[in-house]
Amino acid sequence: MILEATPPSTLESEFNPKISAEVRFDEAAARLGLDEGMQKVLRSPSREIIVHIPVSLDDGRLEVFTGYRVQHSIARGPAKGGIRYAPDVTLDEVRALAAWMTWKCAVTNLPFGGGKGGVICDPTLLSPSEIERITRRYTAELFDFIGPEKDVPAPDMNTNEQTMAWIMDTYSMHARHTQTAVVTGKPINLGGSKGRPEATGRGCMIVTEQALRRLGLERSSTRVVIQGFGNVGGMAAKLMSRAGFKIVCIVEWDCAIYNAGGLDIPALMKHRNETGSIAGFSGGEMIDKTEAMFLETDVLLPAAKENVITSDNAHRLRTKILCEGANGPTTHVADSILAEKGIFVIPDILANAGGVTVSYFEWVQDRQGYFWNEQMVNDRLEEIMINSFQDVVAYAEKHSVNNRTAAYMLALDRVAYAIKLRGIYA
Ligand code: GLU
Repeated sequence: MILEATPPSTLESEFNPKISAEVRFDEAAARLGLDEGMQKVLRSPSREIIVHIPVSLDDGRLEVFTGYRVQHSIARGPAKGGIRYAPDVTLDEVRALAAWMTWKCAVTNLPFGGGKGGVICDPTLLSPSEIERITRRYTAELFDFIGPEKDVPAPDMNTNEQTMAWIMDTYSMHARHTQTAVVTGKPINLGGSKGRPEATGRGCMIVTEQALRRLGLERSSTRVVIQGFGNVGGMAAKLMSRAGFKIVCIVEWDCAIYNAGGLDIPALMKHRNETGSIAGFSGGEMIDKTEAMFLETDVLLPAAKENVITSDNAHRLRTKILCEGANGPTTHVADSILAEKGIFVIPDILANAGGVTVSYFEWVQDRQGYFWNEQMVNDRLEEIMINSFQDVVAYAEKHSVNNRTAAYMLALDRVAYAIKLRGIYA
């Protein structure tokens, strides 16, 4: 977590992502006038799997890890969504993230439902071979439930291409043939897609550009503060600075680096890769990491973790645009504060959908056995992100709601329609 946890706020429920997801669901469902039965269907995860996996540690001890996979919906296609490894993973968190994947895939009109997985473990305390054994045993336990037509995992917090390669291999060993399309986010030479590592950051940039256009702002004078410098924040910083945005501040878990004239992002990345931290970078000044979130800026891009914009701090934001690169960076209680302040919010289920969109391209390429060049991937990503942005903004205008509610309404409507067309099998 980059920001220190905010002290408990008025509502106990504020920091439970499942409650956040439900509050937003309820609001969108009420505005859509969805009938109660359909609300019940959309609210309930289709399947929740809990596994307790025994794993031998390097020192010979036997440990048991708990893993989850929640398939929230398969109404529009196979479940789709990442797997995270963290010591504080909870079933409620995985449930919320699985539902968000359903809405994310529906907003972007991808032929997928939504799912999410998690294993309770601390990757910083485990060796690579211990992580490999956890991954393989978790995959073996899930063998009957995942697959290219059933549920297609991908990387999420603390999992990466290597994790996906192990999952692909384990699944393939059980299936007795190589099945690359069982996961996305794989290494390029194992059926991965060009453009996948940059996809979430690129998607954030594309929707931010669309927002700038609507607000009549120029890219070259646009200041950007990014929280997180990893797969999402780091890529967004790299691509946005290359495109001419002024990245004035990067906020990391240990400190923040600020330069009013714009940071040299490739140099900052080099420094971080060499020293392990952005601290001590000579091309900017170190500022307080908590205060950095409240700098005056045009775009704030939280790309680290859930619950960083809360009822306790939302009133202090000084940005015109909030582009939610992370999943769930804003609590539901903070939503109305952002609305009062007139901040243009690009909600997570739209803003960070570039990742799953290129995951979809990867799944398509694996199934076709025909691989696209990077330009094709990027052009198709751009088309989907722009169309989705425009769909959400048009929906918000038509129904006089904010962008987040519009995104949820659009998504719920699409999933509900698919369920109605399919009918309920009895
Ligand atoms: N974990 C990413 C997300 O939350 C990617 C999911 C995917 O590619 O399936 O969107």
